[in-house]
Amino acid sequence: MTEKLKVLFVSSEVAPFAKTGGLADVVGSLPQAIKELGHDVRVVMPQYSKIDSKYLSQIEPVLYFRTRVVWRDDYVGVNKLERDGIINYFIDNKSYFDRTTLYENDDKHVQFAYFCRAVLEMLPKVDFKPDIIHCNDWQTGPLSIMLKEDYQIYDFYKDIKTVYTIHNLRYQGVFGKEILEDTLGLPYKYWNWGVVCHDDCVNYMKMGIEMSDMITTVSKTYAEEIKTAEFGEGLDYVMRMNGDDLYGIVNGISYKDNDPETDERIYANYNSGDLTGKSENKRGLQEELGLPQAAEIPMIGLISRLVDQKGLDLIASVIDELMEEEVQLVILGTGNNQYEKLFREIARRYPQKVSANIKYDATLAQKIYAGSDIFLMPSKYEPCGLSQLFSLRYGTIPIVRETGGLNDTIQSYNEVTGEGNGFSFTYYDAQDMLYTIKRTISFYQQKEIWTKLVKRGMESDFSWKSSAKEYLKLYSKLVDKKSN
Ligand code: ADP
Repeated sequence: MTEKLKVLFVSSEVAPFAKTGGLADVVGSLPQAIKELGHDVRVVMPQYSKIDSKYLSQIEPVLYFRTRVVWRDDYVGVNKLERDGIINYFIDNKSYFDRTTLYENDDKHVQFAYFCRAVLEMLPKVDFKPDIIHCNDWQTGPLSIMLKEDYQIYDFYKDIKTVYTIHNLRYQGVFGKEILEDTLGLPYKYWNWGVVCHDDCVNYMKMGIEMSDMITTVSKTYAEEIKTAEFGEGLDYVMRMNGDDLYGIVNGISYKDNDPETDERIYANYNSGDLTGKSENKRGLQEELGLPQAAEIPMIGLISRLVDQKGLDLIASVIDELMEEEVQLVILGTGNNQYEKLFREIARRYPQKVSANIKYDATLAQKIYAGSDIFLMPSKYEPCGLSQLFSLRYGTIPIVRETGGLNDTIQSYNEVTGEGNGFSFTYYDAQDMLYTIKRTISFYQQKEIWTKLVKRGMESDFSWKSSAKEYLKLYSKLVDKKSN
């Protein structure tokens, strides 16, 4: 086993600095867990102007230099902020990262090509030579190929190995053929080799998969699913061909940053030994959202990007039947217009039962995890899913569809054996979901069983402890291969 490793995480979003989804949670907490196992871990991300001013004001300059992004001579500022003992580097160039959105920009192929190149160029300048560069999702796809093509001829870069983690295969970074030379500065031979293109387009995700030394994804079930046409998003053949280098490691969450006993964002603190604070959270949330303050009505929470993946059409198709039950439904999310409109409309029709919060709000999210009784995640597919893990941590029982990481983390309650930590349904079917919600509510009314489930969820361990060790094993395998 390798001794102290140096690892650099490269990501387009990192919590708490910038976040649109679970990727930020992962890169905001996994490095800490690996560091705690005795390794030197650092993180690098773009310095968006959207980063909360509370953090922006703490970022310190390290150095700056100029680099060439193909024909353009570009400024690269390298700044840093140390948080919980981890150095977070920020790549600063206002013309690329002073934008109103993270990913909805027409020149995103240039933004992230620049980011990958700037990260590679920064390393000798900050005197950090990682054993492993750990890339994440399509925004960092070009890094491995740039490393191999342009840098590994130099001693400094020679032994660096790359790991590429797929957090969601749907988002691939697909661009016109011309950007291969224009933007990435890569020779045309790569097009002919087929490692950078799919469907006659340059594909950043495929590049990352094909050119990195090892590939991981965020659950064992998803690692298998993406080799099939149903879940492979057109790249299932790539996943099958690279199957020997593909590993599924389930995500964890930070148990320190998400602790109902100390969390300052929620109405009252509590633990599995004393759940009175949990009822306080439900009451507080009902009051804040203008719902009837009734302790006995089961409250279902849903926090999600409002996109097709999340199974929202299932909810739409049985909403009237669901509203016949005595329930409250609290939604927090943003995304596709059609879903934003749908939930606003449902809340308008059922003001006593539904609260639709169409926005991004990290504090309200925490209040919903703490205040709800049940958390709904009927995803069509789910690489890992973190919301079900936050829910368990806050004593809120998840209802999930059995796919991807939901399948690997939630076992449906079995009334015969008493085993399980949530409720689940197999087929992507609205009636199956509705039946499962009703089944869950029937157990909610059996207080002894319910309390047992709540405590079991809170006392279970979905921290990074074991998954961080699995990542380390993979890193060591790569590094040991290198030294042989
Ligand atoms: P995905 O990465 O597909 O969005 P995950 O379940 O892995 O799904 O992670 C979603 C993360 O984003 C969770 O931390 C969840 O609480 C958070 N989140 C999603 N939508 C919102 C929102 N509107 N406001 C606050 N947090 C949100």
